[in-house]
Amino acid sequence: MEGHVLAVPYPTQGHITPIRQFCKRLHSKGLKTTLALTTFVFNSIKPDLSGPISIATISDGYDHGGFESAGSIADYLENFKTSGSKTIADIIRKHQTSDSPITCIVYDAFMPWALDVAREFGLENALWSKACPVLTIGPTIPSIYLDQRIESDTDYDLNLIESKDDSFCTNWLDTRPQGSVVYVAFGSMAQLTNEQMEELASAVSNFSFLWVVRSSEEAKLPSGFLDTVNKDKSLVLKWSPQLQVLSNKAIGCFLTHCGWNSTMEALTFGVPMVAMPQWTDQPMNAKYIQDVWKAGVRVKTEKESGIAKREEIEFSIREVMEGERSKEMKKNVKKWRDLALKSLNEGGSTDINIDTFVSRVQSK
Ligand code: UDP
Repeated sequence: MEGHVLAVPYPTQGHITPIRQFCKRLHSKGLKTTLALTTFVFNSIKPDLSGPISIATISDGYDHGGFESAGSIADYLENFKTSGSKTIADIIRKHQTSDSPITCIVYDAFMPWALDVAREFGLENALWSKACPVLTIGPTIPSIYLDQRIESDTDYDLNLIESKDDSFCTNWLDTRPQGSVVYVAFGSMAQLTNEQMEELASAVSNFSFLWVVRSSEEAKLPSGFLDTVNKDKSLVLKWSPQLQVLSNKAIGCFLTHCGWNSTMEALTFGVPMVAMPQWTDQPMNAKYIQDVWKAGVRVKTEKESGIAKREEIEFSIREVMEGERSKEMKKNVKKWRDLALKSLNEGGSTDINIDTFVSRVQSK
């Protein structure tokens, strides 16, 4: 049997992207793949359906407002479980009589109930967790930036927020001196307090910066701040083409919330980081950035409030951009880029692990 994987990411940007990228790798190795998006995400993105990876829709119970319209995370997860189980089962059933029935489900750790759906259809042996207890892969950056073995993989192509004018941003970066700009972005979900925004605004004002402030965060900026931004030196955007930004030579460091995708992207493009983790896995990622990979500095926060004060932020940026250890960090981050490339290339750990996974799915 050829093997057909149904991949179901948790429906937020930071989860959709790597699973979509994983599907591209599986497809390049000969597996049929179907990516299941929630109706809300599908309608928001309006994905191109002509590509080699099929797209199916499932429901999380919030077809019109998505995750943001749920009363609480607990409510969301509960409704996702009910509606998601039913609609994933519908997709599997629909394929059962086709030429390529689904033989394996890849699902996100936030959706443990997907295992029950898989069991219902006797797919458990083909499951990722059962068949191959732990197979690490990554980074899931478009192939063009690393191994270049998947020709069509030139960008992330499922974006919940579209950046308005990519060439305006990259043209502006092209005018800035090499390594001079601090790129500041907190991913797609992090919400800072007004106080933290004020500290951040004050700190970055000492540098040339490109700061992504999502529309939902804009009101937290100190009043009048946007008018004080010197447009020749700095830029504030609602969303950026982050891969293009990080690959631009003007970027000197990345002040990041340490989301896993952002962290892998910085390593891939050899950009050292200033770490300001907010929640979930981000503090652990920050620990890796500073202490294990030695590819950046974590901003110290106040014990009681958890706030990173302006002096600490400014100090950390200077450490990464021009401090004593700056050269060392830049060297280390490039070393990790080389290792990432090696792992994706033929015979590298990611490549081998994906082959192992594919052959197990195919042998079911
Ligand atoms: N991103 C982007 N433009 C922005 C900010 C973020 O394209 O202005 C992308 C970024 O490249 C990454 C994703 O959004 O792939 C964020 O994922 P991450 O895991 O870093 O954080 P999350 O959003 O899940 O907290």
